[in-house]
Amino acid sequence: MAEICCQEAKSTPATAAAVATVSASAAAAVASSVMDRRRRRLEMRRFRLATDLEESAAEYARAGKRQRLSRTGSGPPCPRAPGPVPQRPDFGPRYGFSSVCGRRREMEDAVSVRPNFLPGSAESHFFGVFDGHGCSHVATTCQDSMHEAVADEHSKAAGSSSEEVPAWKGVMERSFARLDEKARNWATNRSGEEPKCRCEQQMPSRCDHVGSTAVVAVVSPTQLVVGNAGDSRAVLSRAGVPIELSVDHKPDRPDELERIQAAGGRVIYWDGARVLGVLAMSRAIGDGYLKPFVTAEPEVTVTERADDDECLILASDGLWDVVTNEMACGVVRACFRSNGPPEPFAEAEAGNDGASSSSGKGVSKAESDKACSDAAMLLAKLALARRSSDNVSVVVVDLRRGS
Ligand SMILES: [Zn+2]
Repeated sequence: MAEICCQEAKSTPATAAAVATVSASAAAAVASSVMDRRRRRLEMRRFRLATDLEESAAEYARAGKRQRLSRTGSGPPCPRAPGPVPQRPDFGPRYGFSSVCGRRREMEDAVSVRPNFLPGSAESHFFGVFDGHGCSHVATTCQDSMHEAVADEHSKAAGSSSEEVPAWKGVMERSFARLDEKARNWATNRSGEEPKCRCEQQMPSRCDHVGSTAVVAVVSPTQLVVGNAGDSRAVLSRAGVPIELSVDHKPDRPDELERIQAAGGRVIYWDGARVLGVLAMSRAIGDGYLKPFVTAEPEVTVTERADDDECLILASDGLWDVVTNEMACGVVRACFRSNGPPEPFAEAEAGNDGASSSSGKGVSKAESDKACSDAAMLLAKLALARRSSDNVSVVVVDLRRGS
């Protein structure tokens, strides 16, 4: 708007002030109608996008019709890469992910995918979604280190116990505690060469006013282990039925409210239930200033895998605020159907003469991976179309048995 006024004023210097005033009011009127029209167009476009996405998901289900999706088309670009995701190994899991900034100014979500992350224990894969608040540095710390903490604690537990399977609850609790400690010491332990983070620039010495949700899953051939603190969520689709493997830590969840009040804290309703009227979740990594009311202790579930398991979805509340568990699982199943059944890894390898190099991946694996990526991207797009106002991060893991 300022540019329009200035250009007109410059073109008639003798009456610059008058023209500037007139053009300012005229421009305001024009801008108002232009903005109205633009707003209506955007509304229509959003409506069409939402309708298109829901129809396309239904279309997947009806006809198994393949839909081409751009890998870069799921929203505004992230200010950084979605995470240091290593190359999928030859016997790695089938997965896909999407992480988009959406309508937020800052990207504070982080995704971690670590195939075969346990030393000496093949076929255990780590997935994590971390939704930061206040700044992104706790989420990125989790992204960088949580899998290492889990692997280390798993190794210690296995070494100190005669049981073959260590107690996952303890492993997850100690891993989350280590990341919480790391978040607390982040400001003092970091090297001076790193660029200052946003929270430091805005409020120096207040780096404990930052936190992150953490929902992590360890997928082995027999089990799904999920650790969760915060309101990101893990959902399993089994025989067409969604099963929550984590329960959101909202401050008004009855048992969480009781725990907060027993510790001497309060939940105040200020744009929703918030701990001390500030934080809209009751557990998180970091947030030192809200302890002990906000704790990093995770809730852990261990689920035996079944033959009719279809997929595991991990996502931040940017998805779950606007997309139901049923809808999310339906979209993933539809993407799977359109891409055909998975082939077992062994057959895919045989088709490549047993090649184990990265260039020897089976076509079926690439297709299956594409199904997970398509599903994750479609879910992120669906969340944006349904007006999610948050960052949206989605990880989809294919749990179907190749047969
Ligand atoms: Zn920061």
